Amino acid sequence: MQREVMIERQLKRRGIHDERVLAAMAKVPRAEFVSPEVREQAYEDRPLTIACGQTISQPYIVAYMLQAAELHPEGRVLEIGTGSGYQTALLAEIVREVISIERHVELSKSAEQRLTYLGYINVQLVIGDGTLGYLPRAPYDAILVSAAAPEAPRALLEQLALGGRMVLPIGNRDLQDLVLVRKEERGMSQIRLEGCAFVPLIGAAGFPE
Ligand code: SAH
Repeated sequence: MQREVMIERQLKRRGIHDERVLAAMAKVPRAEFVSPEVREQAYEDRPLTIACGQTISQPYIVAYMLQAAELHPEGRVLEIGTGSGYQTALLAEIVREVISIERHVELSKSAEQRLTYLGYINVQLVIGDGTLGYLPRAPYDAILVSAAAPEAPRALLEQLALGGRMVLPIGNRDLQDLVLVRKEERGMSQIRLEGCAFVPLIGAAGFPE
């Protein structure tokens, strides 16, 4: 019920129309991905705190990024910043294969437990620095970065398939613009989508610790 209200008011009314994204958001229980203290706020219109000082993004931002990435059922997608695993589960509902990288071991382990419990088998969780991508499964049809980067990491651009889309927040540690990068035969194109505020991407091609 709360999930249906979230979809109507927070997503459809604000322009989320991709049927696959809406179906995934209707199916994945966000409440399973937040800590018990904030469970009753799981479907509210805002980000929530998870372990290790990180946050699970506002539902609208997650849906917006998924829609902007133009996901196809046959695709292979790389996600940077597993966090709670919520967006990972949504991706797993929409595409064939998901690789998700997280730098905090604790977050990756608890995300793994939730995703296993919920029955997702098309997900591979990797612990490490996502700014370097994950070469063994490259190239990716889409890459979603859910932490703020100073610029698009070179390794991620290289690991994007021709025709692939990358959605990432670019800016400083506090405020960013969500950017859609497209890799085309004649080069990269980059368009600015909306203003946003993500936690920083920490790593070799991100911000220092
Ligand atoms: N999409 C997540 C929210 C992620 S918050 C969800 O649905 O819950 C951003 C995450 O990016 C944090 O967990 C943070 O630890 C992680 N992160 C930051 N820098 C990273 C890096 N270089 N590689 C991998 N993960 C990183």
